[in-house]
Amino acid sequence: KGDPRLEAISQAIRVVPHFPKKGIMFQDITTLLLDHKAFQDTVDIFVDRYRNMDISVVAGIEARGFMFGPSIALAIGAKFVPLRKPKKLPGTRTKYHAGKVICEEYELEYGTDCLEMQVDAVQPGDRALIVDDLVATGGTLSAAIRLLERMGAQVVECGCVVGLPEVKGQCRLNGKPVYILVEPR
Ligand code: AMP
Repeated sequence: KGDPRLEAISQAIRVVPHFPKKGIMFQDITTLLLDHKAFQDTVDIFVDRYRNMDISVVAGIEARGFMFGPSIALAIGAKFVPLRKPKKLPGTRTKYHAGKVICEEYELEYGTDCLEMQVDAVQPGDRALIVDDLVATGGTLSAAIRLLERMGAQVVECGCVVGLPEVKGQCRLNGKPVYILVEPR
């Protein structure tokens, strides 16, 4: 892309082979958080992209989406909504809109997991940016998109620090654009 900040961001991410299990090249963004300039540049690149897109909600995916999302939300004047792992948010669970917390399942390599959101955090007409550290299959982002759309929000884009070039175009199943800063090393 010709932005020298991106090379430094990529270098600041530590790659840990075979974590959390054999065969996975884990992209460890905690070393990016230790590098003040690279961390600031990461947030700035997202802020520059989204500040004029009329985004009203930044939704961060637990846990590493929480490390980038709030800074972006504050800088662009949007609210921050955490999309959490099961049973972390208070409120009754239901598959339908009447409850306080809604959930969406997504596929893991073995079995399924789900993401939850408080229904009163998002209103119809909200324009959403979804943030996570990394997109692989897109399954997690797809569940996040479904949560926001169930509450009537419009998902403008998903923003991730790391992703394979082949997901750059469209998010799996939901046809939403995915914006990625760097590729995995
Ligand atoms: P996926 O749903 O397949 O797109 O997986 C994305 C989610 O899994 C994100 O929340 C990532 O934090 C995590 N993840 C998947 N693969 C990796 C990896 N190689 N390094 C770090 N995190 C990963």
